[in-house]
Amino acid sequence: MIKRNEQGILIVVSGPSGCGKSTVNKMLINSRKNIIMSVSDTTRAKRNGEINGVDYNYITKEEFEKNIESDKYLEYAKVHSNKYYGTPSDFVNKKLKEGIDVILEIDLEGARKVNEKRNDAVFIFIMPPSMEILKSRLINRKTETKEQVIERFKTAYKEINEVSKYNYVIVNDKIEDSVKRMSSIIDAEKSRVDRIEDIYLGNEEELIHEILMDI
Ligand code: ADP
Ligand code: 5GP
Repeated sequence: MIKRNEQGILIVVSGPSGCGKSTVNKMLINSRKNIIMSVSDTTRAKRNGEINGVDYNYITKEEFEKNIESDKYLEYAKVHSNKYYGTPSDFVNKKLKEGIDVILEIDLEGARKVNEKRNDAVFIFIMPPSMEILKSRLINRKTETKEQVIERFKTAYKEINEVSKYNYVIVNDKIEDSVKRMSSIIDAEKSRVDRIEDIYLGNEEELIHEILMDI
Protein backbone atom coordinates (compact mmCIF):
# COMPACT_ATOMS: atom_id res chain seq x y z
CA MET A 1 0.00 0.00 0.00
CA ILE A 2 2.88 2.33 0.71
CA LYS A 3 5.71 2.66 -1.77
CA ARG A 4 8.79 3.93 -0.02
CA ASN A 5 11.64 5.71 -1.68
CA GLU A 6 14.00 2.78 -2.31
CA GLN A 7 17.12 4.93 -2.29
CA GLY A 8 19.60 4.60 0.55
CA ILE A 9 19.87 7.33 3.17
CA LEU A 10 22.81 9.71 3.26
CA ILE A 11 24.00 9.99 6.86
CA VAL A 12 26.49 12.70 7.81
CA VAL A 13 28.39 12.11 11.06
CA SER A 14 30.55 14.81 12.62
CA GLY A 15 32.00 15.52 16.02
CA PRO A 16 35.31 16.53 17.57
CA SER A 17 38.37 14.44 16.83
CA GLY A 18 38.64 11.65 19.42
CA CYS A 19 34.94 11.61 20.39
CA GLY A 20 34.58 8.13 18.86
CA LYS A 21 33.04 8.68 15.40
CA SER A 22 34.99 5.99 13.58
CA THR A 23 34.64 3.50 16.45
CA VAL A 24 30.84 3.95 16.50
CA ASN A 25 30.55 3.91 12.68
CA LYS A 26 32.65 0.76 12.28
CA MET A 27 30.53 -1.11 14.84
CA LEU A 28 27.36 0.21 13.23
CA ILE A 29 28.19 -1.01 9.74
CA ASN A 30 29.05 -4.43 11.17
CA SER A 31 25.69 -4.59 12.92
CA ARG A 32 23.37 -3.49 10.06
CA LYS A 33 22.70 -4.62 6.54
CA ASN A 34 22.97 -2.42 3.44
CA ILE A 35 25.08 0.31 4.96
CA ILE A 36 28.61 1.42 4.14
CA MET A 37 31.10 4.16 4.90
CA SER A 38 32.08 6.41 2.04
CA VAL A 39 35.85 6.36 1.41
CA SER A 40 37.19 9.92 1.16
CA ASP A 41 40.13 11.20 -0.84
CA THR A 42 42.81 12.87 1.28
CA THR A 43 46.21 14.49 0.85
CA ARG A 44 47.31 13.63 4.40
CA ALA A 45 49.92 10.93 4.97
CA LYS A 46 48.80 7.35 5.57
CA ARG A 47 49.04 6.34 9.23
CA ASN A 48 50.40 3.00 10.43
CA GLY A 49 47.77 0.32 9.97
CA GLU A 50 45.65 2.31 7.51
CA ILE A 51 44.89 0.83 4.10
CA ASN A 52 44.70 2.75 0.83
CA GLY A 53 41.19 2.45 -0.61
CA VAL A 54 39.74 1.31 2.73
CA ASP A 55 40.44 4.11 5.21
CA TYR A 56 41.05 6.78 2.57
CA ASN A 57 42.23 7.13 -1.01
CA TYR A 58 45.62 8.78 -0.46
CA ILE A 59 46.31 11.16 -3.33
CA THR A 60 48.61 14.11 -4.02
CA LYS A 61 47.66 17.77 -3.64
CA GLU A 62 47.92 18.13 -7.45
CA GLU A 63 45.53 15.22 -8.03
CA PHE A 64 43.11 16.60 -5.44
CA GLU A 65 43.10 20.06 -7.01
CA LYS A 66 42.50 18.55 -10.46
CA ASN A 67 39.51 16.67 -9.01
CA ILE A 68 38.16 19.91 -7.52
CA GLU A 69 38.35 21.52 -10.97
CA SER A 70 36.48 18.64 -12.57
CA ASP A 71 33.77 18.86 -9.88
CA LYS A 72 34.39 15.35 -8.57
CA TYR A 73 33.49 16.09 -4.95
CA LEU A 74 30.12 16.25 -3.21
CA GLU A 75 32.05 18.31 -0.67
CA TYR A 76 35.65 18.90 0.31
CA ALA A 77 37.47 20.86 2.98
CA LYS A 78 40.89 21.56 4.37
CA VAL A 79 40.91 19.98 7.81
CA HIS A 80 43.64 19.67 10.47
CA SER A 81 47.13 20.72 9.32
CA ASN A 82 45.72 22.18 6.11
CA LYS A 83 45.28 18.83 4.37
CA TYR A 84 42.52 18.27 1.82
CA TYR A 85 39.72 15.79 2.50
CA GLY A 86 36.84 15.20 0.06
CA THR A 87 33.86 12.96 -0.63
CA PRO A 88 33.75 11.59 -4.20
CA SER A 89 30.19 12.17 -5.55
CA ASP A 90 30.07 9.23 -7.98
CA PHE A 91 30.63 6.58 -5.36
CA VAL A 92 28.03 8.04 -2.98
CA ASN A 93 25.35 8.49 -5.69
CA LYS A 94 25.88 4.98 -7.04
CA LYS A 95 25.48 3.36 -3.61
CA LEU A 96 22.42 5.45 -2.68
CA LYS A 97 20.75 4.46 -5.98
CA GLU A 98 21.45 0.80 -5.17
CA GLY A 99 19.47 1.27 -1.92
CA ILE A 100 22.53 1.24 0.30
CA ASP A 101 22.78 3.72 3.19
CA VAL A 102 25.99 5.73 3.07
CA ILE A 103 27.78 7.27 6.05
CA LEU A 104 29.97 10.32 5.55
CA GLU A 105 32.32 10.85 8.48
CA ILE A 106 33.28 14.43 7.73
CA ASP A 107 34.16 17.69 9.45
CA LEU A 108 31.70 20.51 10.12
CA GLU A 109 32.60 22.57 7.07
CA GLY A 110 32.03 19.55 4.83
CA ALA A 111 28.72 18.85 6.58
CA ARG A 112 27.59 22.43 5.91
CA LYS A 113 28.34 21.97 2.21
CA VAL A 114 26.40 18.70 2.06
CA ASN A 115 23.49 20.46 3.78
CA GLU A 116 23.42 23.06 0.98
CA LYS A 117 23.28 20.36 -1.72
CA ARG A 118 21.26 17.50 -0.23
CA ASN A 119 18.12 18.27 1.74
CA ASP A 120 17.47 14.53 2.19
CA ALA A 121 20.64 13.92 4.24
CA VAL A 122 20.52 13.18 7.97
CA PHE A 123 22.99 15.01 10.20
CA ILE A 124 24.24 13.35 13.39
CA PHE A 125 26.65 14.94 15.86
CA ILE A 126 28.69 12.74 18.20
CA MET A 127 29.66 14.33 21.51
CA PRO A 128 32.15 13.10 24.10
CA PRO A 129 30.62 12.65 27.58
CA SER A 130 32.98 15.39 28.87
CA MET A 131 36.00 17.37 27.73
CA GLU A 132 38.16 15.46 30.22
CA ILE A 133 37.13 12.18 28.59
CA LEU A 134 37.76 13.66 25.14
CA LYS A 135 41.29 14.58 26.23
CA SER A 136 42.01 11.08 27.51
CA ARG A 137 40.57 9.43 24.37
CA LEU A 138 42.73 11.64 22.16
CA ILE A 139 45.85 10.92 24.21
CA ASN A 140 45.23 7.18 24.61
CA ARG A 141 44.61 6.71 20.87
CA LYS A 142 48.31 7.59 20.40
CA THR A 143 47.89 8.67 16.77
CA GLU A 144 48.73 12.36 17.23
CA THR A 145 51.70 14.26 18.61
CA LYS A 146 51.21 16.36 21.77
CA GLU A 147 50.93 19.50 19.57
CA GLN A 148 48.28 17.85 17.40
CA VAL A 149 46.31 16.76 20.48
CA ILE A 150 46.33 20.36 21.72
CA GLU A 151 45.22 21.68 18.29
CA ARG A 152 42.39 19.13 18.02
CA PHE A 153 41.28 19.78 21.59
CA LYS A 154 41.08 23.54 20.97
CA THR A 155 39.12 22.96 17.74
CA ALA A 156 36.72 20.69 19.66
CA TYR A 157 35.46 23.64 21.73
CA LYS A 158 34.46 25.53 18.58
CA GLU A 159 32.95 22.44 16.97
CA ILE A 160 30.72 21.58 19.91
CA ASN A 161 29.05 25.00 19.61
CA GLU A 162 27.74 23.94 16.19
CA VAL A 163 25.74 20.98 17.48
CA SER A 164 22.42 22.82 17.08
CA LYS A 165 22.85 22.75 13.29
CA TYR A 166 22.54 18.94 13.32
CA ASN A 167 19.35 16.85 13.41
CA TYR A 168 20.50 14.44 16.13
CA VAL A 169 23.10 14.29 18.87
CA ILE A 170 24.60 11.17 20.42
CA VAL A 171 26.65 11.40 23.60
CA ASN A 172 29.20 8.64 23.13
CA ASP A 173 29.50 7.28 26.65
CA LYS A 174 29.01 3.51 26.39
CA ILE A 175 29.89 2.44 22.89
CA GLU A 176 27.12 -0.18 22.58
CA ASP A 177 24.48 2.41 23.57
CA SER A 178 25.80 4.85 20.96
CA VAL A 179 25.65 2.22 18.21
CA LYS A 180 22.10 1.24 19.22
CA ARG A 181 21.00 4.87 19.23
CA MET A 182 22.50 5.52 15.82
CA SER A 183 20.77 2.44 14.44
CA SER A 184 17.44 3.63 15.91
CA ILE A 185 17.88 7.02 14.25
CA ILE A 186 18.39 5.37 10.86
CA ASP A 187 15.32 3.15 11.38
CA ALA A 188 13.23 6.17 12.36
CA GLU A 189 14.45 8.11 9.33
CA LYS A 190 13.35 5.26 7.08
CA SER A 191 9.81 5.70 8.43
CA ARG A 192 9.59 9.42 7.73
CA VAL A 193 6.49 10.41 5.81
CA ASP A 194 8.56 12.47 3.40
CA ARG A 195 10.43 9.34 2.31
CA ILE A 196 7.18 7.82 1.04
CA GLU A 197 6.98 7.98 -2.73
CA ASP A 198 3.38 6.95 -3.17
CA ILE A 199 0.35 5.61 -1.32
CA TYR A 200 -1.87 3.44 -3.47
CA LEU A 201 -5.16 2.01 -2.38
CA GLY A 202 -6.69 1.24 -5.76
CA ASN A 203 -10.15 2.33 -6.83
CA GLU A 204 -11.94 3.48 -3.69
CA GLU A 205 -15.47 2.38 -4.56
CA GLU A 206 -14.41 -1.01 -5.91
CA LEU A 207 -12.18 -1.71 -2.94
CA ILE A 208 -14.74 -0.71 -0.33
CA HIS A 209 -17.25 -2.96 -2.01
CA GLU A 210 -14.79 -5.88 -2.35
CA ILE A 211 -13.25 -5.70 1.13
CA LEU A 212 -16.45 -5.07 3.02
CA MET A 213 -18.48 -7.57 0.99
CA ASP A 214 -18.69 -10.19 3.76
CA ILE A 215 -19.83 -8.01 6.64
P1 ADP B 1 37.18 9.86 16.13
O1 ADP B 1 36.92 8.97 14.95
O2 ADP B 1 35.98 10.66 16.53
O3 ADP B 1 38.38 10.74 15.97
P2 ADP B 1 37.91 7.36 17.46
O4 ADP B 1 36.80 6.48 17.03
O5 ADP B 1 39.24 7.20 16.82
O6 ADP B 1 37.47 8.91 17.38
O7 ADP B 1 38.02 7.20 19.04
C1 ADP B 1 39.05 7.84 19.79
C2 ADP B 1 39.55 6.87 20.87
O8 ADP B 1 38.52 6.70 21.83
C3 ADP B 1 39.89 5.49 20.33
O9 ADP B 1 41.05 5.03 20.99
C4 ADP B 1 38.66 4.65 20.68
O10 ADP B 1 39.01 3.30 20.92
C5 ADP B 1 38.16 5.32 21.96
N1 ADP B 1 36.70 5.28 22.12
C6 ADP B 1 35.75 5.54 21.19
N2 ADP B 1 34.51 5.44 21.71
C7 ADP B 1 34.67 5.10 23.00
C8 ADP B 1 33.76 4.84 24.08
N3 ADP B 1 32.43 4.93 23.93
N4 ADP B 1 34.26 4.52 25.28
C9 ADP B 1 35.61 4.44 25.46
N5 ADP B 1 36.53 4.66 24.49
C10 ADP B 1 36.07 5.00 23.27
P1 5GP C 1 41.73 12.05 10.28
O1 5GP C 1 42.91 12.73 9.63
O2 5GP C 1 41.87 11.98 11.78
O3 5GP C 1 41.41 10.73 9.66
O4 5GP C 1 40.45 12.97 10.00
C1 5GP C 1 40.47 14.30 10.33
C2 5GP C 1 39.11 14.92 10.12
O5 5GP C 1 38.78 14.94 8.73
C3 5GP C 1 37.96 14.22 10.82
O6 5GP C 1 37.20 15.21 11.51
C4 5GP C 1 37.14 13.64 9.70
O7 5GP C 1 35.78 13.59 10.02
C5 5GP C 1 37.39 14.63 8.58
N1 5GP C 1 37.16 14.07 7.24
C6 5GP C 1 37.44 12.83 6.79
N2 5GP C 1 37.06 12.67 5.52
C7 5GP C 1 36.51 13.85 5.14
C8 5GP C 1 35.91 14.32 3.91
O8 5GP C 1 35.79 13.62 2.90
N3 5GP C 1 35.45 15.61 3.92
C9 5GP C 1 35.55 16.42 4.99
N4 5GP C 1 35.05 17.65 4.89
N5 5GP C 1 36.10 16.01 6.15
C10 5GP C 1 36.58 14.74 6.23
